[in-house]
Amino acid sequence: MRLFECGTLVPGCAWHTRADSDAEVVRRAVEHLKNAHGETTIRENMVDNIKSRIRDEVNAA
Ligand SMILES: [Zn+2]
Repeated sequence: MRLFECGTLVPGCAWHTRADSDAEVVRRAVEHLKNAHGETTIRENMVDNIKSRIRDEVNAA
């Protein structure tokens, strides 16, 4: 699974999401940034910022 934590981009935000593909993680993160942080336009560098912060989730189980 791929994991994105919004707190890495917006300090103090505890929201996070996980999905099988980077594309899906980015899609959800963009949606969250619009809804929760009032981002009306998602610039290209915002998508890059999200992508650079997506990491593999290590399953401890
Ligand atoms: Zn957030």
